[in-house]
Amino acid sequence: MSVVEYRAILRYRLMIPLFPVDEPCPVCRKACLDSFGEHAIHCKELPGFKYRHDWVRDVLYDVLKRAGISAKKEAPVNFLTDPLEGRSTLRPADILVFGWEGGKHACVDLTGVSPLVGLKDKGFVVGQAVLKAEASKVAKHEKACLENQHVFVPFAFDTFGTLCDF
Ligand SMILES: [Zn+2]
Repeated sequence: MSVVEYRAILRYRLMIPLFPVDEPCPVCRKACLDSFGEHAIHCKELPGFKYRHDWVRDVLYDVLKRAGISAKKEAPVNFLTDPLEGRSTLRPADILVFGWEGGKHACVDLTGVSPLVGLKDKGFVVGQAVLKAEASKVAKHEKACLENQHVFVPFAFDTFGTLCDF
């Protein structure tokens, strides 16, 4: 890691402003580059955005495999949707774990979030963003999984390294 990278990561983790002023994001031109660097890390148009999600998914999948647990990545299921959009948005499970609980398969849904979300409103609380993301995923997908004889397992993590219970 270079000195510049180290300094940037340290400032980010210690919540020391990275940029002197808020400016429009030069990549997506939709959001504001906040002084803490939150958007710079989470801009959805950066090549690394999907990479982080897929990297965590691949590590989790590898852990399951090494533990002898049968699983499949990006497994098609016919019930995971966005409840607001209905069946037009069918999507695969990030990881489908076979025979996870009581013989039922588990749909594991990964989500990476920023620990600094809502910082201006409530102040920083360790793990708050992960718990919120986990609850949001449960509200979105758990019912459909249960109705289709599957278990739903949200797997939320943040860019400071916090993981939800698995
Ligand atoms: Zn952006």
